Amino acid sequence: MVDIVIIGAGASGLFLGSLLKKNYLILEHNREIGAKIKVSGGGKCNITNKILSTSNYRGDNKFIKEIFKNFDNKDLLNWLRENNLEVKELKKNQYFFSSSEVLLNFFKKKVKNIKTNIEVLDVEKQDYFIIKTNKGDIKAKKLVIASGGISFKKLGASDIGYKIAKKFTHNIITPKPALVGLTTQPSENWFKKLSGISFKAQVRVDKKIFNQEILFSHKGITGPAILNASLWWDRGFIEISFLKNIEKYLKNPNKQISTQLPLPKRFVKEFLNVINLEDKKVKFLSKEEIKKLKLLENYKFAPAGTFGFERAEVTKGGVDTLEIGFDMQSKIIKNLYFIGEVLDVTGELGGYNFQWAFSSAFNLFLRL
Ligand SMILES: Cc1cc2nc3c(=O)[nH]c(=O)nc-3n(C[C@H](O)[C@H](O)[C@H](O)COP(=O)(O)OP(=O)(O)OC[C@H]3O[C@@H](n4cnc5c(N)ncnc54)[C@H](O)[C@@H]3O)c2cc1C
Repeated sequence: MVDIVIIGAGASGLFLGSLLKKNYLILEHNREIGAKIKVSGGGKCNITNKILSTSNYRGDNKFIKEIFKNFDNKDLLNWLRENNLEVKELKKNQYFFSSSEVLLNFFKKKVKNIKTNIEVLDVEKQDYFIIKTNKGDIKAKKLVIASGGISFKKLGASDIGYKIAKKFTHNIITPKPALVGLTTQPSENWFKKLSGISFKAQVRVDKKIFNQEILFSHKGITGPAILNASLWWDRGFIEISFLKNIEKYLKNPNKQISTQLPLPKRFVKEFLNVINLEDKKVKFLSKEEIKKLKLLENYKFAPAGTFGFERAEVTKGGVDTLEIGFDMQSKIIKNLYFIGEVLDVTGELGGYNFQWAFSSAFNLFLRL
């Protein structure tokens, strides 16, 4: 009998394993551990963020706040430094590793009790847990579900965490793709014609505002501002301000609109086409036409959907945290624990999801 079985050698499971001294075993169905760490950011993973607030997360703010009390961004940075894992500050707010390989190599050396190529199929509960795998049954006193969300199946994602939770009567907040591009309705088919064009804009969904790049794609629209918006969007409208205060740019009466606006020319031409306005000299613009042009400042559209789980960096939704204690233990089944993305806590871009994976794992470590 193993004391603790952890399902999943991903960010949260590996971090927990690196802290544990007890009799534990991590089960991983991939041949290699940490597939998502490896691909994150194309080798440079955003590990955490200088600004860590519950408002960067979708989920129960009280629950998230409590978890960060024991292990926040400063604790994570300290842990990285203590273990000689290089951290570089990127841009203004973010932190990143020069290479996610560095972190993976650390886990490979530090975390010994991992069995790969073992797929967990089901779990039964007697006085202990019986973990049913493709290679036979394993008995454990405590069971930790660290199996992540369901996005990027090709990296090993599965719904086993939700299945086990459901089996033990846990509520699951419907999993949906997040940090993902958005597909469009026919009214925004013009986005697709601009595939490859990218610029900084302001994207608003409800009260959330993101001033980041947008990128038009043959499927719709993506880029960091849209990926972030997708976390908060469920249905209804998204508003994009392609450019603010456009009148300020229409000063030279003898120049064409498309040469006056500081936006990619191909975009402006297509936009003018959409609003049925000829690209003409500014002096020939009527008041009515300027009003039409002002649509650039607040263009509203209702996305058709998302690019789907296969393109989503994370899964929003998951195991309802109302039924999970601050020790990460199920309030329904004793000795059953959930950490990481399998829970209904999802962060924005910029290291928030690794931070959550590590913070939730640390919280459990404290109580084990
Ligand atoms: C392309 C990409 C880039 C990303 N970049 C960043 C970034 O830069 N910063 C950031 O903060 N976040 C990033 N993320 C998100 C981040 O990787 C995840 O939020 C984080 O890895 C979640 O950790 P976890 O331990 O909960 O799950 P995971 O890391 O997904 O680990 C779950 C593990 O469980 C295993 N598993 C699943 N089912 C079974 C089963 N039945 N039996 C056995 N094992 C199983 C999986 O193979 C996997 O190894 C990125 C995600 C993707 C897809």
